[in-house]
Amino acid sequence: MTLLTQSDYPIGATAQPSEPDANHEAQSIVENNLELEAQPIRWPVVVSTVLLHVAPLLALNPAWFSWNAIGVAVFLYWITIGLGISMGFHRMAAHRSFTVPKPIEYFLVMCGTLAGQGSVLGWVGYHRMHHLYTDESKDPHDSNRGFWWSHLSWFMHDVPDEAERLRLTKDIANDRFYQFCHKYHTPLQVALGLVLYAWGGMPFVVWGIFVRLIVGFHSTFCVNSICHMFGYRSHNTKDTSTNNWWVALLTFGEGWHNNHHAVQSSARFGWNWWELDMVWMTISLLEKLGLATKVKTKRS
Ligand SMILES: [Zn+2]
Ligand SMILES: [Zn+2]
Repeated sequence: MTLLTQSDYPIGATAQPSEPDANHEAQSIVENNLELEAQPIRWPVVVSTVLLHVAPLLALNPAWFSWNAIGVAVFLYWITIGLGISMGFHRMAAHRSFTVPKPIEYFLVMCGTLAGQGSVLGWVGYHRMHHLYTDESKDPHDSNRGFWWSHLSWFMHDVPDEAERLRLTKDIANDRFYQFCHKYHTPLQVALGLVLYAWGGMPFVVWGIFVRLIVGFHSTFCVNSICHMFGYRSHNTKDTSTNNWWVALLTFGEGWHNNHHAVQSSARFGWNWWELDMVWMTISLLEKLGLATKVKTKRS
């Protein structure tokens, strides 16, 4: 186990955020506005996001309700958000806070791919940009632009510095499994839907795909919006990050976001006894079983 004692920066990062001051901040916001106004809207993303919000309404049909379907949705939510996004995409792929054997690594990447939050290469790249330029103009979901921007509007537009995202993902971009998940994340979701339909009919599809996707979508993106606006701060980081208990519950521990910004490579986000961090508990269990190594954390 590697102990970290200060903030560190993601793989691929070569520069650290500069000290903010009033002039710099004002200039940053103006530049950001100009850049974003010039950025084309990603219409396929807009359309798919609208569909993502309309499709769960099918759950209002009582004929498509069943407790088994709820169980499938909850199980898949844990698999895709807990193991996939929070543990796989975020703490493993984006921050390299622990290492697991390749079959487990690829399983976690596949789980995250099925969360319906785009490809692993995009997710990791944008997240590393967020840490490198937090709350500055090159932060893709700069919280200074308001709640809705940081929550979901940001990915409706092309990110201004796509070259930077590519630069920050060189360590995973050539992995053939990552490339496969990057290329086929939508067909893989459709395949999961077909499996669920064959298994339990429309109730499994409505709850296991549509309802599960929309809850995971907003839970994860609350980390970018809520956790840069509401909650408490344990660390005086040079950003607006906060710890928020209910986002942490929804995301299996990701809501302890101020702790995370303070020591970004730590696999453990919950540092106080009340800061429940189920992803950390899972990583810790894998470490005890000898399956997770090079686990980085901060002594609480
Ligand atoms: Zn992070
Ligand atoms: Zn953040």
